[in-house]
Amino acid sequence: MWTARVFTLYPELFPGPLGAGLYKKALDKKIWSLEVVNIRDYALDKHKTVDDTPFGGGSGMVMRADVLANSLDKNITDKKEPIIYLSPRGKKFDQTYARKIMNKNINIICGHFEGVDQRLLETRNIDEVSIGDFVLSGGEIGSFIIIDSIVRLIPGVLGNPSSLAEETFEKNLLEYPQYTKPQKWEKKDVPDVLLSGDHGKIKDWRLAQSEDITRRRRPDLWKKYEKKK
Ligand code: SAH
Repeated sequence: MWTARVFTLYPELFPGPLGAGLYKKALDKKIWSLEVVNIRDYALDKHKTVDDTPFGGGSGMVMRADVLANSLDKNITDKKEPIIYLSPRGKKFDQTYARKIMNKNINIICGHFEGVDQRLLETRNIDEVSIGDFVLSGGEIGSFIIIDSIVRLIPGVLGNPSSLAEETFEKNLLEYPQYTKPQKWEKKDVPDVLLSGDHGKIKDWRLAQSEDITRRRRPDLWKKYEKKK
């Protein structure tokens, strides 16, 4: 069973959005599991200190390496499992990375304050991963994003697994436009081709739409797509 283990100072935030709908069903059916570790439980003094002021001065607090290492070492039994530290300095998370790490259980450290002591990152073989070029107050929302993107790839979680292959990013293309009932809405019709019943034509139309949208909106993806074509 695929397991995500999250190290956090705010365990009460979990499962949060991951505990609803199809994801909750999949959790109950044990298709995947979520373990939440409260970093504070691994503090080493009686005041349960998890952070301290930065050496060299400056604002804010830094999460202590000894406390974090204690929480990791006591909970990760398989040393081959990847450990991710969510950080705006990390390499950018994307669908390719999600596919790469979905085959192993993952451990995610949610930072707070000014981040974590550098020595933790160097001694525990930790991958720094960013969810985008902006700064959040903590890693928890990033952990939801990473786990959400992986869980929907696990067979048995979504209703119709064949829909996955056609989605945005899977072939370096953005998705084609989708329509549902009503067939006429606010004087707008659904494109004729989608009502034709001709599956070959529909496929061609959707590919052409995907290509057009990608070329216009995401020249970076378009370049990759053309290279592979
Ligand atoms: N002082 C740090 C920012 C700390 S933000 C810096 O300038 O780089 C506090 C925590 O929020 C971080 O430790 C990290 O876990 C999380 N976080 C903030 N922005 C993030 C992002 N873009 N991606 C992933 N995690 C982020």
